[in-house]
Amino acid sequence: MTGRDDRLDDYRDKRNLVDSPEPADTGDPGQGNRFVIQKHRASTLHYDFRLEVDGVLKSWAVPKGPSTDPSERRLAVPTEDHPLDYIDFEGVIPEGAYGAGEVLVWDTGVYENETSDREGNRVGMAEAIESGHVSFHVEGTKIEGGYSLIRTGSGDDERWLLVKKDDEHADARRNPTSTEPESVLTDRGLDEIDSEAG
Ligand code: MN
Repeated sequence: MTGRDDRLDDYRDKRNLVDSPEPADTGDPGQGNRFVIQKHRASTLHYDFRLEVDGVLKSWAVPKGPSTDPSERRLAVPTEDHPLDYIDFEGVIPEGAYGAGEVLVWDTGVYENETSDREGNRVGMAEAIESGHVSFHVEGTKIEGGYSLIRTGSGDDERWLLVKKDDEHADARRNPTSTEPESVLTDRGLDEIDSEAG
C-alpha cells in the first residue's frame, strides 16, 4: 500500500510552495467523504473535481465543469492527487508557477460511494477508481444527486467522462456553472479573488 506521502510526491514536485499560496500537506486526517469543485482560471478555465479518498483528494480537471443534464458527457482529465488541505483553498497562484491563475471553491459538500460490481457487491472508492468506473452521490450546494466517472482510454490517452445520473436531481435546463459562477464559500468571483490578492 502506497502511503499518503508517496501519493503526494507529484503534487510537491510540480510546485514551489514558497512562491505559491497553495497549502502544504499538514496530515489533516479528514473526514473521509468530502468533495470539492474548484473553479480555476489557469491558461484555460476549468473546474477541478476532487473526491476525498483514503487521505488524499483524487482529482480530475473538467474543462466545462459538471452538468446537471444526464445527456451531457463532460470530459475529465485526471490530475495529481492533492492534499486534503487543498479542499478550501482559494487564492491566486502566481504567474510563472504551476497552474498560475485564480482558484475559487465553486461547490463543496459530501459524497457517498455507490459503486458496485456486476454481481451487485459494493466496491470501495480506491478500487472503483482503479477499475475505471465510479458511481457516487453528491450533496453539494449547487450540484446534488448521482454522478458517474467513467474511464476511457489508457496510458497517455487516459480520459474520463463525468456524467450526471438520471435521477430526481437531473435537470437539463439548469446550467449552474453559468448561473452560479461565484465561490460557494465567500461569494467572490474570480476577478474579486484576483483584486483582493493584491
Ligand atoms: Mn486546475
